[in-house]
Amino acid sequence: MATIFSKIAAGEIPSYCCAQNDEFYAFLDINPMVKGHTLVIPRREVDYIFDLADDELARLHVFAARVARAIKSVIPCVKVGEAVLGLEVPHAHIHLIPMQSERDMLFSNPKLQLPADEMQAVADAIRQAFEKA
Ligand code: 5GP
Repeated sequence: MATIFSKIAAGEIPSYCCAQNDEFYAFLDINPMVKGHTLVIPRREVDYIFDLADDELARLHVFAARVARAIKSVIPCVKVGEAVLGLEVPHAHIHLIPMQSERDMLFSNPKLQLPADEMQAVADAIRQAFEKA
């Protein structure tokens, strides 16, 4: 059975798309830690990120780096942090989190609920920056 993230990448479940190509898909986390919190996934279904083949893992990170640069250009932050957990959704993904401080990376923090129009505006801005790069 397809994972929820496969359905998102296929457009069967809506998401706030930030970037995509044939192999990878980036979209806003629905319960963000901070504004601009983005998930990057391979379209191919693999649960554990470290089960990806070396070259696919490398390409995923190159794609994520381009997404991170786009995030940093539109969300004021010190740096974009990267985290991998995968405890909730069994489909490999990288969290990209614009940080003001180390505290923004604490997954035990309460999550934000941003209005749909704000989520859309953030995703559109990241996508435009990604496409320009
Ligand atoms: P993890 O598997 O890394 O522990 O956490 C999964 C992340 O995916 C969480 O931050 C959660 O908010 C996010 N998430 C779970 N389901 C959905 C969904 O249907 N749409 C989006 N955009 N994010 C989701």
